Amino acid sequence: MKVLFAASECVPFFKSGGLADVIGSLPKALKSLGIEVRVVLPKYQTLAEEFKAMLTPKAKLNVQLGWRNQYCGVEEFEYQGLKYYFLDNEFYFKRDSLYGYFDEAERFIYFSKAVLKALPYLDFRPDIIHVHDWQVSILPLLLKAHYSNDFFYQDIKTILTIHNLEYQGVFPKEILPDLLDLSYDYLTVDKLEFNKDLNLLKGGIVFCDAVTTVSPTYALEIQDPFYGKRLDGLLRSKPNKLKGIINGIDYSEWDPEKDSLIYAKYTGETIEKKLANKIALQKQLGLKKDPALPVLAIISRLVSQKGLDLVECVLNDLLKRDLQLVVLGQGEGTYERLFKEAAKTNPYKVSTNIRFDNELAHRIYAGADFLLMPSLFEPCGLSQLIALRYGTIPIVRETGGLKDTVLSFNESSQEGNGFSFANYNAHDMLFTIDRALGYYNLEPYWSNLRKTAINSDNSWVNSAKEYQKVYTSLLV
Ligand code: ADP
Repeated sequence: MKVLFAASECVPFFKSGGLADVIGSLPKALKSLGIEVRVVLPKYQTLAEEFKAMLTPKAKLNVQLGWRNQYCGVEEFEYQGLKYYFLDNEFYFKRDSLYGYFDEAERFIYFSKAVLKALPYLDFRPDIIHVHDWQVSILPLLLKAHYSNDFFYQDIKTILTIHNLEYQGVFPKEILPDLLDLSYDYLTVDKLEFNKDLNLLKGGIVFCDAVTTVSPTYALEIQDPFYGKRLDGLLRSKPNKLKGIINGIDYSEWDPEKDSLIYAKYTGETIEKKLANKIALQKQLGLKKDPALPVLAIISRLVSQKGLDLVECVLNDLLKRDLQLVVLGQGEGTYERLFKEAAKTNPYKVSTNIRFDNELAHRIYAGADFLLMPSLFEPCGLSQLIALRYGTIPIVRETGGLKDTVLSFNESSQEGNGFSFANYNAHDMLFTIDRALGYYNLEPYWSNLRKTAINSDNSWVNSAKEYQKVYTSLLV
């Protein structure tokens, strides 16, 4: 079985969030099941020089978008046993960051079209194209609309994975003829129309052969108006097309036993060495060096989805507790200011790091005692999975993948790998943090909790098999 992943980011080349982790790790897990997977990505200019130097040119072609005729260089690269293709066009991708430009529709419709155009030049005819998120979600329709008479493309199946329904790619309807080379016949409520505009993610849901999202609970939640972001009706009408498959994490990248970025390596059996990581973290961040203080971490995009208004609401109360708060993230100004201000007024207690910093993230996962993730909604969430792997106890709201992966600690049965609360309420969160702090260093509970956390299985093994089942169902 041959599967081509098409996505807008992938570890270790480009990352803005969890999507990149999934594209970087799921193909490896699928490969170990005997599936031949390749990955196609835009060649952003931020690709590290060491990788750029290893690319081999494969083909040069032109891509038509309405009246535009754009160049596409196909470049190839084998990395850790997997083949990657990078599609080169400096007009669209020679920019400082991955996203956030005025011509996002044009950039990613170009990419979707370029992937299809490049297929015959790859020496790899996929049985399935697996597209991810709105950036590539229009590819299944383009395949059907523009290539159905071409023998090479016939019978190629498509699957869309929704990593976050919040981001749908909604653009003015004029892009139908102008960029997609499609007629206004597609501007109907059962196809691409969305409040008189055009919705690329909706196009994916309607025209691909299967849809998955990244946790079973999120798959149910998005069929409800609260979480459905105005696509709940469409998703409810296709119950057999939608499946929730929980994400895993790359156990070779996130491994406290082998992690060269952390101060002291450890396993479940030597978890007491985590303390050395905490002391090193306190030192690095200029916090009070006190191993007895619990360290609560937030490693997250600083956006409202992540429940940060709950934190804002009770931050002053929270900081009256005997703890240290470490924040790593960037995003909306109000949250960046909130945490910067807190660090300014409590320099030995709060460390705020407004940037994307993978090395520091590793050190925080290793050195912190708790990870706070009170998300309003969370399709899967990877930070809590990484925290578990490092024996750092997650405190989460019961939504999406957080609900599927964190089981709240039960004192009498001693089951559970974290703490959780259900209502989106700041004082419920604070109560749950207090509950968690109550078990900090309290034996035998604390040891059992950390043991259960570090032994939680969030590898890709089971989830890759679920994807394999979906692929197989498309090919019968
Ligand atoms: P999302 O995809 O919504 O951003 P996830 O929890 O699924 O959230 O994935 C977030 C990923 O990005 C995790 O691997 C997390 O460690 C990482 N991350 C988030 N913010 C930062 C940051 N500022 N620096 C380094 N890594 C970060």
